[in-house]
Parts: sequence; C-alpha cells; structure tokens
Amino acid sequence: MEAVDWKKRYLDSLREMETEERRWRAVESLLRKLVARLCATASGQDERLDAQLDKLAAAVKKDAGEPELKALLDSLTDAIRALDQSVASTQTRALVPIAPPAEAVPVLQEPAPAPAAPRWNATCAAVRALLRHLDTAEPGGTAVAELQAAVVAAGDDAELAKVLARVAGLVAMRGEALARERAAAAAMLAQVTERLGEMADYIASASADRLASREAADTLNTRVLSDVTGLADDFAATDDIEALRASVAHRLESVARQVREFHAREVERYAAASARADRMRLRIGELETETRELHRRLEAEKRRSRTDAVTRIPNRASFDERLDAELARWRRFRAPVSLLSWDVDHFKSVNDTYGHRAGDAALRKIAQCLATRKRESDFLGRVGGEEFGLLLVGTALAEAERVGNELRDRIAALGFHFRGTPLTITASCGITEFRDGDTAESVVERADQALYAAKHGGRNRCVTA
Ligand code: GH3
Ligand code: MG
Ligand code: MG
Repeated sequence: MEAVDWKKRYLDSLREMETEERRWRAVESLLRKLVARLCATASGQDERLDAQLDKLAAAVKKDAGEPELKALLDSLTDAIRALDQSVASTQTRALVPIAPPAEAVPVLQEPAPAPAAPRWNATCAAVRALLRHLDTAEPGGTAVAELQAAVVAAGDDAELAKVLARVAGLVAMRGEALARERAAAAAMLAQVTERLGEMADYIASASADRLASREAADTLNTRVLSDVTGLADDFAATDDIEALRASVAHRLESVARQVREFHAREVERYAAASARADRMRLRIGELETETRELHRRLEAEKRRSRTDAVTRIPNRASFDERLDAELARWRRFRAPVSLLSWDVDHFKSVNDTYGHRAGDAALRKIAQCLATRKRESDFLGRVGGEEFGLLLVGTALAEAERVGNELRDRIAALGFHFRGTPLTITASCGITEFRDGDTAESVVERADQALYAAKHGGRNRCVTA
C-alpha cells in the first residue's frame, strides 16, 4: 500500500512540474513576442540595422530554434558594433519622443505619465505581461514587483534597456531554478526505483532458493530410493551372506553420506538466505526513513511553490489554478461566483517614503485583513506586487459589492504607523461576476477594467463591472 501511495505522490509531483513547464512555455512565448516588439521599437533608427531586425522578428515569430536565433543575434550584434564605431563621437538619436524623466514623485500624488508613443507603450505592456507571468512566490518575488515598477518609471530607452537586462537575468534565474527542481525530483525517483529494484532482486533470489531446495530434496529422494531398490535386488540376487553384508554396509554408507551432504547444503542455504533477509530488513528500514524524508521535502516544496513568500497567502500560480477550477465548476453548476480585484492605492509612495520593508509589512497586514471575510470555499491570492484577487464562491454581485466595501473600510481603518508617523492606506477594488462564455482571461480583464475605473474615480472605492 505504501508503494502505491508513493507512486501517486511522485506522479503528482511530476504532474506539477509539467504544469510549471507549461507556464514556462507561456513565458517563452511572451519572450518571443517581446523580442518581436523590441525589434519593432528599435527599427527606423538605422537602415543597416532594420534588415537584421526584420529577420530576427520574423524568425522569432515562426518559432525558429536556437541555432538560427543565435546566428541572427550574432549578425545583429556585429551590425550594432559597426554602427557604434561609425557614430562613436556623435550622440545616438532617441528612438521615440521622450518625456523628461519624472521628478521625485511627491508622497501620495499621481505619478508623472509615461512617454506616450504607441510603440513605446506596446513594448512596456509586453514587458509587464512577461513580468506578470513570473511568479511572485519564487525567490526574487520582490524583484518582479520592483521590475514592474521600474518599467513604469523608465523614462527613456537607456533606462528601459537596463530594466530589460534585469528582466533577462530574472528569467534565466527562474529557468535554472526549474531545471534544478526537475533534477532533484528525478534523483529522488531514481533512488526509490533503485531500492525497489533491490527488493525485487531479493524476492527473486528467495524464490530461486526455494526452487533449488526442492530440487535438492527430489534428488536426495531419487538417490535414496535407488539405493533401497538396489538393496532389494542384492537380496534377491545373492545367497552369499558376506557379499550381502558388504553390499548393505556400502549402500547404507551411501544413503548416510547423501543425507549428510543434503543437510550441510540446506544449512548453508539457510544461513545465506537469512543473511540476505537481514540485509533486506535493514534496507526496508532505510527506505522507510528515506521515504519519510522525501515526503517531508516534497510537501515543503509544494507548499513553498504555492505560497507567496511575503504575505504567506497563495501566490499567483495558485490563484490562476483555482480560478480555472472555479470556472469549470461554475459552467456545470451555475452557482454565482464573484471576483474582486484589489490594488493598494499609491503604494509606490509608501515604499518611496518608508522603504521596502515597511511596504512589505503593510502588504502582510492588508493580506490578513482581506482574509478576514473569506469563507472556507472562497480563495484569496496575491496576484501581483500590491494586487490581490479574492474569489467569492456562491456569492452574487450585489453581495460581493457589500463584502468589497466592508473590506475596503477595514483596510482604511487598519491604522499603520511607520517611524512613529500614523498613516492611512487605502485600496481600490474592481468587482465582477462569472458570465456566460467567460474564460479566466475575460473575467480578470473585466475585474481589472472595473478596478481601473475605481482608480480613475478617485481611489478607495469599489466599482462593479
Ligand atoms: P495606484 O494607486 O495607481 O495603484 O498607485 P501605486 O503607486 O500603488 O501603483 P503602481 O503600480 O505604480 O506601484 C505599485 C508599487 O507597489 C510599485 C512597488 O514599489 C510596490 N510593490 C510591488 N510589490 C511590492 C512588494 O513585494 N513589496 C513592496 N514593499 N512593494 C511592492
Ligand atoms: Mg498595481
Ligand atoms: Mg497600486
């Protein structure tokens, strides 16, 4: 039974890794789109570059493999190098009309708008979409939030390029983490398989032992029988008492020798079998300890990969999974489900004024507060830097709005103190209900639109889609 249980656990963990890999593929496809957008953004600067950029964009779109992409990147790098040399002394032309970098943003005020060129916006949107896919719970979760903020804050090409280099670093780090996790799980699997193999060998050798023992007993039987029959024949064939005595003595000696040999062989076989059984008992003990340890590690790993490190509530991957499951259930049973998309107001200025650690502490408190109205069937997750998703299962729009406003009041009443200064933090919320034809994307999109309206309506409010 233990073995079956274990098999299930390992299969579960493999399935989880497959999900992770699918997410990873989504990241890759976003990266490809991002490269295509970046190519579009960069083109028009110099016609020598444009041809290379067009080729790269086309290759990325048609899912070209690594060798082709590498060759294209190399020739692009050469072209840029040649261009750099030819314009070494002159100032490089800006790619898009650039707004002057935002001055230090005063506390609790609107941030300066980003540059308005459409290509610029498309690039920023692609980078942010990519960042949203990089889970917040992994090591470096805060880095994702920081990068999101940095994309928004980037005022010109040079700044955006720096952000992109950091995004690339983060993506590489996540890729390595995934590869490490797979390798660790594969090693665990190999270890357990090896142990199970040893047990199979033991069982096979034990049954071979039994077979050999039975064959030896049969042989003994046959031989003793042949000696006894021989004795009877001798009696019938001779009247010579001396010869008969010699023959009886000889045959009895032969029977005694065979029984002795048989006995000695059985004792040996028994000793070897019991030594093997002892080794096996030891192995089973070790296997139990190892399995317990593996179980503990797998459970911890699973918890870690589903929980946001800062707030200790489920992370985005968990939330997305639950949203999919609730949608599937809703399509069957039709009981109302509402989604509340939360975003903390002016949170950047909390960080800027009181530091990231104070910001983290505030996020924890807000997450706890949002969890207060959560029923057993509801689900709360941290879906972005200072963004939370709350699924209210069995709750229709009107009631969801009431819950939303109550939570909003509670957040506003939390009463923060940073460096002795009292501070009120508020949050805005967009609310929607599952509708016919909805996908996870369409529900989230609708809730986000409502959230956007709440921000534009002055913040600290709930808006229903
Ligand atoms: P708005 O009212 O429009 O939502 O303004 P905002 O400042 O909250 O919005 P914006 O999206 O521009 O900034 C979100 C900020 O949240 C950026 C980043 O400094 C902060 N943030 C995101 N994730 C974390 C985190 O994990 N820890 C901390 N301390 N801050 C974070
Ligand atoms: Mg936000
Ligand atoms: Mg915010």
